[in-house]
Amino acid sequence: MTTLRTLKALEQEGLVAADPRLAEAAQSMAIALTPEMLGLIDRGDLAHDPIAKQFVPSVHEIEVAPEELADPIGDEVRSPVKGIVHRYPDRVLLKPLHVCPVYCRFCFRREKVGPGGEALSAAELSAALAYIRDHDEIWEVILTGGDPLMLAPRRLGELLAALDAIPHVAVIRIHSRVPVVDPGRITDELVAALKPRRAGLWFGIHCNHARELSPEARGALARLADEGFPLLGQSVLLAGVNDDVDTLEQLMRALVTARVKPYYLHHPDLVRGTGHFRVAIERGQALMKALRGRLSGIAQPSYVLDVPGGHGKVPIGPGYLGDDPQALTVEDAFGEQHSYPPR
Ligand code: SF4
Repeated sequence: MTTLRTLKALEQEGLVAADPRLAEAAQSMAIALTPEMLGLIDRGDLAHDPIAKQFVPSVHEIEVAPEELADPIGDEVRSPVKGIVHRYPDRVLLKPLHVCPVYCRFCFRREKVGPGGEALSAAELSAALAYIRDHDEIWEVILTGGDPLMLAPRRLGELLAALDAIPHVAVIRIHSRVPVVDPGRITDELVAALKPRRAGLWFGIHCNHARELSPEARGALARLADEGFPLLGQSVLLAGVNDDVDTLEQLMRALVTARVKPYYLHHPDLVRGTGHFRVAIERGQALMKALRGRLSGIAQPSYVLDVPGGHGKVPIGPGYLGDDPQALTVEDAFGEQHSYPPR
């Protein structure tokens, strides 16, 4: 079984019915559904299946609201050279390619990613590395894209070695969905390409539902954890996928059990054609409050919003302190209010 990449292939698998609106939706973004994710889809309840919803195109993708943006987190305005996004002084994103193992229908870079998406040429990658070399305030480089683990191990190893040779780069972070959606790619050869490193190497692992963590995915994550790499979990709050407290609780517990520390729960970005995935911020805050009462601190992510226009991420609550600085109150994890001295 290979990755499904066309509407026809999804139709043959019984995942969609022929519909001209779907053909239109599929034009706006590439399709990829790995055998591992296909195997996790519950055919008995396709319309509500949280795995299918993430990767199978929907007719709702042709509905574009006026506030939705082609570049929802403002990568372009913060890009001094091709492949680099420099939003905060001490860190940059480096995007060597725009290919992914799956294409998530809610992706914040949905208009960039895909098999025909731009990859950096050798000259462009050199220019991007030169930019990092020339800016000694850059302490951390975040490899993203696309999915950096789609690079051949040799190329990934060369890129990591080039970054490792820049003395002021102390930390390299790889953001990836590969260990979860295509765990067979975490091979000995790939792991060998990840070391040895002077800089600290971290992983951000994208996972939105506990069911994504198949035995194979957990094996791939264990492989990375056993090598000593710290693993952080990144999840997107998605209507119909994980926007209820039981599902989020299971996801966070499953991540921690797999030695992945939940890091961010992203509020969904204002991506064109993804209104059907969006959840009200108030609802997200209520879910976070409910999680506070249920989960240990190591299983709590920060609920964050990327401010449109390239202004970066901020935590968006919920807050636990009352508004009156003279008569301060603090709410506990179970909703009870308590007074607290202002200092
Ligand atoms: S793996 Fe990441 S970059 Fe690729 S489609 Fe999914 S969310 Fe977008």
